[in-house]
Amino acid sequence: MPDEQYKWDDVTAKIVIDALNAKAPNPGPCPICGKRNWQLHPGFVFFSLSDTYGTTKFGGTGLPCISLNCSGCGNTQFLNILALGILPLLEKKAQEQKVG
Ligand SMILES: [Zn+2]
Repeated sequence: MPDEQYKWDDVTAKIVIDALNAKAPNPGPCPICGKRNWQLHPGFVFFSLSDTYGTTKFGGTGLPCISLNCSGCGNTQFLNILALGILPLLEKKAQEQKVG
């Protein structure tokens, strides 16, 4: 269930939804409960990567993702925005907001 605290603007939502429609237009059923009740959470998730076991680095390299949540059981799937091909669009939008 989406947290109302996080909400994309219309441009960001269109970028993400267009990518999902292009790359994953018909997501299969949830592998846990078998239902097809995927919800797109309107926020970004960032998994930090560390090259040293037992340490956590905040910032730096990582996996920027969006999440699809199954409303039936809570299973959450993460889709990397690099693989979705939308990182350049999101960076361009962020840059335009800084300038304008
Ligand atoms: Zn499920």
